[in-house]
Amino acid sequence: MDEDFVVKVTSDLIKINSQNPPGYTKGVVDYIKDLLNDNGIKFEIYEFEKNKQNLIAKIGNGSPTLILNGHMDVVPPGDESKWIYDPFSGKIVDDKIFGRGATDMKGGLATILVATLQLSDIIEKSTGSLIFVASADEEVGGHAGMQGLVKNNLIKGDAALIAEPSGYNRVSIGEKGLCQTKILTKGIPSHGSMPILGENAILNMYKAINIAKETIDELNSKIIIPNDVEFAIKETSKTYESVIKEKKLNISVEDIEKQLKSVSFNPGVIKGGSKINMVPDYCELELDMRTPPGCKCENVRNLLKNKLNGIAEIYPIDTSESNFTSTEERITKIALNSVEKILNKKPELHIESGATDGRYLRAIGIPTIIYGPGELFLAHSYNEYVKVYDLKMALKVTKNIITEFLNIKSS
Ligand SMILES: [Zn+2]
Repeated sequence: MDEDFVVKVTSDLIKINSQNPPGYTKGVVDYIKDLLNDNGIKFEIYEFEKNKQNLIAKIGNGSPTLILNGHMDVVPPGDESKWIYDPFSGKIVDDKIFGRGATDMKGGLATILVATLQLSDIIEKSTGSLIFVASADEEVGGHAGMQGLVKNNLIKGDAALIAEPSGYNRVSIGEKGLCQTKILTKGIPSHGSMPILGENAILNMYKAINIAKETIDELNSKIIIPNDVEFAIKETSKTYESVIKEKKLNISVEDIEKQLKSVSFNPGVIKGGSKINMVPDYCELELDMRTPPGCKCENVRNLLKNKLNGIAEIYPIDTSESNFTSTEERITKIALNSVEKILNKKPELHIESGATDGRYLRAIGIPTIIYGPGELFLAHSYNEYVKVYDLKMALKVTKNIITEFLNIKSS
């Protein structure tokens, strides 16, 4: 089994359509099952929602225990005419593997799977153990995937590595929180020709949005970011340089850094009114806010509630607090050292602007890092690909992380 095997596995995995919705993962699980069986590795399958299968394989019985995780579902390909190659072809062109999920995250899944297969014999003989988890449902919140597995006490370990695309030279240690909130305004209906006889819910929403925006701007000037994360955010913002150039945006890397350190403010959906000649009595707004480490969603919502008292009502839609793993944790140190050792260059720290399954593991006290191959800005986009070179490097680094964490002397 040479290092080209990870290329074949990535391409094979892309060919198995696991788009979410519907998020069925049986096809991917069947593929992984065959490889595990060929190598005599035992596994269990868990299903919390029909056809959304999760697989857990365990090697060894001792400690420490390292968890490897990757999700099997991918987002839909969207308009297929915008793809140069069939999104489920797994076609390899110019040392790139193309297809939906190449970056997010069939490349990463292939990396941890192949690492598991290639190291299984020496882990078996070691004092440590390795848990490989292929999960479902990540792209829609992980409820029938990692959240279900954690809730049912099926995952225990001393640290975890999630192979989401950090980029092969980067280690991601945390993520912003999710603070999606509904703002609701009311009014008094009346004929549109005489608005003075009513009260316009849409105009009330206009007021509410302005107050909410001012409130968040003021809050952002006071947030204190934990030290570990401060540095990671600085490095993360630099990765946006190419995007700024490509999109010809009139912003700087410092603006990106400021955004990552702040509560973001994005009114995503607005609904209100039923007819042009009526004064609307109802309007609602779905506001997407992402909170940085050092800022709790609950506090943000309470603040908005106070400021909008008498103008609008506030309701939660979805919440997940920001979370991170310290650079002082053993797994973080080993991951950073491994990148430096294998690539012979200084690793970059990173934090995620969106939520990952890492939150469920960190919530039960498992130090978790994200390390995997892929192009950060290609996730969920057309013509997604992963580079063959990145895959091979990430495999080497991942194997080094596993052996060091499990105290296996490298030969
Ligand atoms: Zn992902």
